[in-house]
Amino acid sequence: MADKPIGILIAEDDRISARILDHHVKKWGFETRLAFDGLEAWNLLTTEALEMALLDWVMPGINGLELCRRLRQKNELKEFEYTYIILLTAKDERQDLIEGLNAGADDYVTKPFDLFELKARLNAGRRIVELYRLLKKQATIDSLTGLLNRRRILEEAEKEYHRAKRENRPVGLLLIDIDDFKKVNDSFGHLAGDALLTEVATRLKKRVRNYDQIGRYGGDEILAVFPGCETYELKRIADRLCLAVKEKPVYFDQHELIVSISAGGLSFNHLSSLSLRELIALCDRALYQAKKRGRNRSLIIESIVLNKGGQS
Ligand code: GH3
Ligand code: MG
Repeated sequence: MADKPIGILIAEDDRISARILDHHVKKWGFETRLAFDGLEAWNLLTTEALEMALLDWVMPGINGLELCRRLRQKNELKEFEYTYIILLTAKDERQDLIEGLNAGADDYVTKPFDLFELKARLNAGRRIVELYRLLKKQATIDSLTGLLNRRRILEEAEKEYHRAKRENRPVGLLLIDIDDFKKVNDSFGHLAGDALLTEVATRLKKRVRNYDQIGRYGGDEILAVFPGCETYELKRIADRLCLAVKEKPVYFDQHELIVSISAGGLSFNHLSSLSLRELIALCDRALYQAKKRGRNRSLIIESIVLNKGGQS
């Protein structure tokens, strides 16, 4: 799949220049957003995931220099968020250039600008953004299965945990484990195990909604987070996932590998006084019970149990 185009903000108060810039920057393969003053620019930068910004220095509202400073402060608050900034200005003294870079700009183009130079500088920015995307991917995605890695899925769970408390809505947690996975490794080798694990991850990922999060918790364990999901819904989802994995065998090196999963989960809400760690530990206990009851099944803890202090 081709990488999605880089989103770039063009902030320029001269509407004619802004339109000309927009026309060219689009033609060079970027996805543009336009702002005609500093406030509008800041609004877009804080509400949309824009990876680059072409900022005019002198603008009504918030000027380009101040936008650079604010953006850098904002970037510091969030890991893996970086906006590559090119300042656009008629100021061309060395002192101005130093001030612009010190405020947080990555590059600087003086007006009247040359289109070839602007294109070359935007392409330099594109290279940095692409490296940044790669870095982010490597730090957040499990390289074998393509699911979120352990750290990221726990961050997602944490985010939803706090949102559930704040917004008073339920969240489903499901811990999934492949049945008798060791046997596959022992009988057919580690590569067969890897292929099976990857296929299970793909089957699971295909069957959860876009806004659900799914990650490799460790070994053959997968953790999934379902925002807005009540107990009865989670039970339905968990059973559907078990069926989907079991539906057909996985083929590896002419071997037919029969595969199934077990799952343990719960739906919690703002009434639960348990920590996220305690909730995951309960999922683990439910998973253990599902294994004990014969595997290829799910066990979802009733939420009434959680709200009474977590005894099961
Ligand atoms: P159970 O049904 O009780 O879950 O039995 P199991 O055999 O699946 O037992 P368990 O979940 O404890 O085993 C996990 C195994 O997964 C142990 C480990 O060798 C193997 N494993 C962990 N990570 C990987 C991996 O990345 N690739 C492969 N091939 N195997 C892995
Ligand atoms: Mg297992």
